[in-house]
Amino acid sequence: MKLVFATGNSHKLAEAQAILGPAGVEVQSYKGPEPKETGTSFLENALIKARAAFEATGMPAFADDSGIAVEVMGGAPGIFSAIWSGGRDDKTNRDLLLAQMVDIAQENRGASFVCTIALVTQSEEVTFTGVWPGRLALQASGENGFGYDPVFIPEGFEVSAAELDPEVKNAMSHRSMALGQMARFLSKP
Ligand code: IMP
Repeated sequence: MKLVFATGNSHKLAEAQAILGPAGVEVQSYKGPEPKETGTSFLENALIKARAAFEATGMPAFADDSGIAVEVMGGAPGIFSAIWSGGRDDKTNRDLLLAQMVDIAQENRGASFVCTIALVTQSEEVTFTGVWPGRLALQASGENGFGYDPVFIPEGFEVSAAELDPEVKNAMSHRSMALGQMARFLSKP
């Protein structure tokens, strides 16, 4: 089976190929004109992106919308994770978040990565959501991954997501949970 993945993010594409490939799904990246993310939730924005890719290609398409949700900030940056500092630079976004949280003690730094995937085909629209719990680090560390990985310490670990091997991240991340749900859905007869 071939699916179009509406993303220009090479990290997300590699993660999707690593997770869906073994399930027999060939993932092709699609980078068309990006629709405005006018939704007010991960789910709405994922649907907007997947619908646009389906309409442009005529192929079954999926898109994800994801971000980091910090408990003490009421779930922010949330859907604004990619542009939290007003721009799209990962380091500037991370540094702003760390600065905003500078006085918050370790026990109150609970945070989760959230990923919602929308799959749009001729006959249906389905969504899948994964949540990866953890906490916001006191400082950035690690070189792997992207985005907020250097400042996210997954539950059960004392290192950041950027210090994990990509295979370890792919086995447990929010995106892998959502992709796994989609793989199981697609494999149902
Ligand atoms: P999106 O491309 O609109 O879904 O924006 C997602 C943003 O959330 C990215 O720019 C990253 O900053 C952040 N994000 C989502 N998933 C991850 C992840 O797996 N690791 C680190 N940051 C992530």
